[in-house]
Amino acid sequence: EQDPRLERISSAIRVIPDFPKPGILFQDITTLLLDPKAFKDTIDLFVERYRDQNINVVAGVEARGFIFGPPIALAIGAKFVPMRKPNKLPGEVISEEYSLEYGKDKMEMHVGAVQPGERALVIDDLIATGGTLDAAIKLLERVGVHVVECACLIELPELKGRDRLGNKPLFVLVKV
Ligand code: AMP
Repeated sequence: EQDPRLERISSAIRVIPDFPKPGILFQDITTLLLDPKAFKDTIDLFVERYRDQNINVVAGVEARGFIFGPPIALAIGAKFVPMRKPNKLPGEVISEEYSLEYGKDKMEMHVGAVQPGERALVIDDLIATGGTLDAAIKLLERVGVHVVECACLIELPELKGRDRLGNKPLFVLVKV
């Protein structure tokens, strides 16, 4: 049985066709941020799921993981770690390359932000092919962090991103 809060969340996400290029149905979460009840319900649903799981790291993927990650981190008493696009972090970084539909990208994390044995939640707004979340998991696991789960507001199940995460659990609020 579905949580009644999910209906409001789902209808607060705006869909914009052909952005950023023809054929893409862009899931725009900025309209959700304009609805304080839907925004709070979103954070609450994640907090209810993760508050008793001894998570000490919330790793947010640039850019929209930076919107949802910090309120969750504060509520569950975890630190927030930004997983950034290349050449944005000023300190020493470790980085992970990953493939995009066309070409490659890189994700970076500060050395020393996390410690071996810590327990992490990885958060982004949306999973499409899963390449982005997979890179975040790999970065954290390379430094000995246990990734407990990945969480997104939205999943595009047709793209089978979930399969790319192997056996790593993925929790989503809305499937489109
Ligand atoms: P992927 O690595 O293919 O799973 O892509 C996920 C990343 O791309 C996330 O950071 C999303 O914010 C962004 N993204 C991919 N497809 C969409 C879409 N249809 N609408 C909004 N964001 C998207």
